[in-house]
Amino acid sequence: MEKEHEQDEYERYCGICRRPESQTGKLMTIPGGMHICSDCMQRSLDVIQPGQFKNMDFSHIDLSRFGLTQEDMEAAMYRMLGPEAVSGNTTDKETALTEEEKPDTEQPEEQKRPKPTISFINLGPIHGMQDHQRVKKKSAEKKPVVDLKNLPAPHKIKEKLDEYVIGQEYAKKAISVAVYNHYKRVATNTMDDIEIEKSNMLMIGPTGCGKTYLVRTLARILDVPLAIADATSLTEAGYIGDDIESVISKLLAAADNDVERAESGIVFIDEIDKIARKKNTTSRDVSGESVQQGMLKLLEGAEIEVPVGATSKNAMVPLTTVNTRNILFICGGAFPDLDEVIKQRLNRQSSMGFQADLKDKYDNEDVLKEVTVEDLRNFGMIPEFLGRLPIIFTLENLTKEMLMQVLTDPKNAILKQYQKLLELDEVKLNFSEDAIEAIAERAIEKKTGARALRSIIEKFMMDIMFEIPKDENIGIVTITRDYIEGKGAPVIQMRDVERKALPQQEQPRLAD
Ligand code: ADP
Repeated sequence: MEKEHEQDEYERYCGICRRPESQTGKLMTIPGGMHICSDCMQRSLDVIQPGQFKNMDFSHIDLSRFGLTQEDMEAAMYRMLGPEAVSGNTTDKETALTEEEKPDTEQPEEQKRPKPTISFINLGPIHGMQDHQRVKKKSAEKKPVVDLKNLPAPHKIKEKLDEYVIGQEYAKKAISVAVYNHYKRVATNTMDDIEIEKSNMLMIGPTGCGKTYLVRTLARILDVPLAIADATSLTEAGYIGDDIESVISKLLAAADNDVERAESGIVFIDEIDKIARKKNTTSRDVSGESVQQGMLKLLEGAEIEVPVGATSKNAMVPLTTVNTRNILFICGGAFPDLDEVIKQRLNRQSSMGFQADLKDKYDNEDVLKEVTVEDLRNFGMIPEFLGRLPIIFTLENLTKEMLMQVLTDPKNAILKQYQKLLELDEVKLNFSEDAIEAIAERAIEKKTGARALRSIIEKFMMDIMFEIPKDENIGIVTITRDYIEGKGAPVIQMRDVERKALPQQEQPRLAD
C-alpha cells in the first residue's frame, strides 16, 4: 500500500480533518483503507477512554461538515460507551435517544448498552476520493513553472500573438510587456528591498474584438494554466451564485490540481463591467460592489482556502490553500456607455477657459482610448479595485478589413479549418475574395465583432458539408459572393474536369 502511494502523484488526505499529508505529517492507514493523521488519531484515542470524553474538544473538527453538532457527537458517544463516557447531565443525552435506544435497567448488564454504531459518519465518500478532489504532491525534482532563462522577451511574445490575433497592436504590446514583467517578478521572487508590483490588467473593448482570445492565446504560448470566469455569475460569499474564490478552484482544476502550477497561472474575469456599483439602489448589492470588495484580497495576493474538485465548500470536499500572490489577474469588459462618461469629461474640460471647444467635438470620435481611472470610477468601479489593476488598455472594434483577415490569416483561421475538413474528403475548398468580403460585411451588421463570423459561415457551410460527400466526383468547390448573398450556388468543378485542365476561375484567395 505504501509503495503504491509513493508512486501516486497525488497527496493523501486525513479522513477526519481533511488536511493533506503535507500539512499533517505522515498519515496512518486504518483497516478499510482510510487515512488518519496523528492528531486526529490521538484525539480519537482520548475519546475512547471512558471519563475523558468530558474533556473532549471537537472544535478542531468542523462537525458541521458532517452535518453534526457537539450534541450529536455526545449522544453518539453515549450510545457507544454508556453514561460514563459523557460528563454532565446525562438526561439531556437520553432525551436525544429514541425510545428503544434508552438503556433498560431491567436488562442484564451486557444487553444494557446499545450496539455500537458509527453510522453517523459516512465513510463512503472518503474511501472513494476521486483524483479531481486531490491535490498533487510537491516534489523536489519538478522544474520551476516559470524559468527566467526561458521566459520569452516581450517582442517574442508579441510575435507569437501576431500569428493568431489580428490587429489590436497596442493591446498586444501592452499585454506582452506586462506579462513579461509579471513572470520576471515571479521567477526572481525575492527582490531585496525593491518589490516589483503585480501587473494585473484591465482590458476594455467591445464584444467580439478578441479579449478572451488574446488571453487564451497568451496562456497557450506561455504554457501556464488559465481559468476563465464570468463576473456576472459571481456573488458575495453566502449568496446564490459562485463564491468569488471559485475562480481559484477553476484555476486549480486547469492546473491538474497542482497547487504550484496554479499559483503562477492566469485568471481571466470577463464581463467585469457588470459588477459596477449599482446606482440608486437601496437593496444590498451582493453581485456588484460587494464582488469588487471581495476580489480585492484575491487581486492583491492572499492565502485562499479553496475546495478541490468543486466550486463550493461543503462537507465532503477537501480543501487546500492557494496563494494568489503570483497569479496574474486579467479583467475584461465591454463597458457600454463608458464612452459617454469619457465624452462628458472631455466636453467639460474643453468648454472651460481659453481652450473652449465645440460642444459636440468628440461625438464622432473613438474616445475609449482616452479612458482614465476617474472615468472608470464614475462608471461604478470602486477605487480600491481599480488600484489593484495598474495596467489599463483598450481594444478597438474590428473593421471590415480586419474581419476579413480574421477569416483567413490566423494559424487556426476558421476558413482554414473548413478547408482542412473538406481536404479529408479530398475536396478542395476555395473562397473568392469578394465572398470573404461579403461575410465580413454581414458580420459588421450584427455588431458582435468576430463572434458573428462563425455563425454566418456555419449557416452556409452546413449545406456544403451535407451535399459534397454525396458525390465522389466533386473536386473543387468555390464559394462566391452570390452564394453568400443567396443569389446563386457555389461553383463546383468535377474531378475529371480538374484532371483535363485546371479551370481558370477568379483568383481564389485561399488556394495553396
Ligand atoms: P470578446 O472580446 O468578447 O472576449 P472573443 O475573444 O471571445 O471576444 O472573440 C470571439 C472569437 O472571435 C474568438 O474565439 C476568435 O476566434 C475571434 N476573434 C476575435 N477577435 C479576433 C482577433 N483580433 N483576431 C483573430 N480572431 C479574433
